[in-house]
Parts: sequence; C-alpha cells; structure tokens
Amino acid sequence: MTAPAPQRSTLDLIGNTPLVLLKGPSEAAGCEIWGKCEFANPGASVKDRAALWIVRDAEARGELKPGGTVIEGTAGNTGIGIALVCNALGYKAVIVMPDNQSKEKMDTLRALGAQLVTVPPTKFSDPNHFVHTSRRLAAETEGAIWANQFDNIANRKSHIESTAPEIWQQMDGRIDGFTCAAGTGGTIAGTGMGLKAFDEGITIALTDPYGAALYNYYAHGELKAEGNSVAEGIGQGRITANLDGAPIDTQFRISDEKGLEWVRRLLAEEGLCLGLSSGINVAGAVELGRKLVAEGKRDVRVATILCDTGFRYLSSLYNREWLESKGLPVFPWLAS
Ligand code: PMP
Repeated sequence: MTAPAPQRSTLDLIGNTPLVLLKGPSEAAGCEIWGKCEFANPGASVKDRAALWIVRDAEARGELKPGGTVIEGTAGNTGIGIALVCNALGYKAVIVMPDNQSKEKMDTLRALGAQLVTVPPTKFSDPNHFVHTSRRLAAETEGAIWANQFDNIANRKSHIESTAPEIWQQMDGRIDGFTCAAGTGGTIAGTGMGLKAFDEGITIALTDPYGAALYNYYAHGELKAEGNSVAEGIGQGRITANLDGAPIDTQFRISDEKGLEWVRRLLAEEGLCLGLSSGINVAGAVELGRKLVAEGKRDVRVATILCDTGFRYLSSLYNREWLESKGLPVFPWLAS
C-alpha cells in the first residue's frame, strides 16, 4: 500500500482523488467500471477543482489582488469550493443564491464563512436572476471578480490539467471510455479533451439527465429538453463556453429512477454514499461499457465521476418524505 504523498499546502489536497473499481456496475456492464472519487476533495465535490483554477486564473491575469473578493451565483458545490479556496488564500467569498434553496445549503455556505446574498427565484431572462445579480454585484464591488463558472474556461482547464492526467495515470493508460453528466460542462469537456490528448481512440460519452437539452443536441443537433429530473448540479439547456468544442462521441439519457437505483446499490452493496448525479453517471458508464463490449472490444475499461458526497442530501435523497413527495422509490432501510 502506498500512502498519498504529503502536501505542503491545504490547496494541494484538491485533486489527486482515488479511483475505485465499482463491483456491481462492472458486473452489470460485463467490463470494468471505475469511479473517480471526487467526494474526497476538501469541499466533498468535483467543483473544488474548478474553484481553484478559476481563482488562480484570475490571480494570474492580475484581476484578483490580495484581499480581493470572489463573487458567484451558485446554490451548491461551486460555492462551497470557492468559499474554501478563498479562505485558504485570504480572499472574501460572496455567494448569490435564490432564496428557495435548501436550508442545508445556506447553512453550509454560512458555516464556511461565505457572505450569502439571497434573491427571489425568477427566470433566467429576468435581470434579477441570481446569476445576473452576481455578475452585477461583482462589477459594482471594488476588488471583486465574477467567477462565471459556466462560461469561464478556467473551469474546464482544471479537468484538462488535473482530472484527465490523473485518470490516465491511475488506469496505466488502459482506458476505453469516459462518461459523465454536464452542469457547466467543465468536467465532461475538460476530462474528454484531456483524455483524447493521450489517446484519440478513447470514447467520450455525455450522460444527460431528463429535463436537459444536451442529449438531443449531440444526438440530433437540436437543443431540446424533455421530461424532468430532481438531480442537483447537472442538466444544461445551452452550449456554455466550457462545452464549446467538447469531444462528445456518443450520448445516453438516464432517468432519476435508474440513477437512484445505483445510488441505492452503491451504498447498500459497496458502502459508498453518493449524490444523484453520481448515480446517473454510473448508470451512463454501465451503458457505455455495454456498448463498447457489444462492439466487440476486449477487456473494456470505462471511467466516470463520483461527483459529491451523499451527506449533502440528507434532507432530500436520503429522506423518506422527500422521496415520496417526488414520487421516487424510497430506499428500503428508510421505509419503516
Ligand atoms: N454533480 C454535481 C453534484 C455538481 O454540483 C456538478 C456541478 N454543477 C456536476 C455534477 C457537474 O459538473 P460540471 O459543472 O463540471 O459539468
């Protein structure tokens, strides 16, 4: 056993996450399915990488100066990543979110020391939407930058420069396919680009939830959403700057029920407590593995992203009343 290398800075704890072989998904696919444990980042999600790269990029461009402020409109993992990175580097973090978000999320961001600004939920075209509010606030605040995770490609660069080379190295260069879902698209585009730079033959697949427009875009060239999903952090309706030029070879669409089934099995059978986007990613990886096996490939190895910890969803995914209110199956151990 090799212990992880000691690090001289807490920021160096971001990335270099473990990769684990997933037993149930591998059996279901008839090939090896590997999960990149992004819940092992300090902020317990894949978004720590984007947060660090966005802040470092703003510093390198001279926009973010000592004592400055990072402002972002986000309700979730990106805000948590930004808050931690800002603490470590002496910046202030201001997070703008709609006031209908879970108390858990607001409590978490406040606990980390971020300044929270809440606005009423409204449609994207409304200038008071939380994203536009965050952009405006950044423009009006002395010494502040707007993180702009959707269209700031420092986000996908984090995956080109860290996630992809880590997976390539951890799999000894023997990887046939990679898949994950898109929120900003930074993870799928950046990891896809980075892996293709090592081996053009690696199949990159988008795994889309319902309620998002990307499946139809990559399958039929039309941005069109169908159905809906309760998965947080994924589901995109446009080609963000991060998604622009993403090397997507194929695509799958996965229901919440299917994703939830893998969340249940990975917890009950393998002891991993994950969020729904991870379950959807694993379902997509099983589809991709089956497809590559059906095409006659031997010894197929597929990787995907385990995006965040399930501990973030105790009052939703892991709560009986919440699951019932959404018409979703309740995990058997929560039923009584
Ligand atoms: N899963 C979760 C839980 C997330 O918070 C995010 C980030 N929005 C994603 C997946 C998708 O990552 P990306 O923004 O890189 O597409």
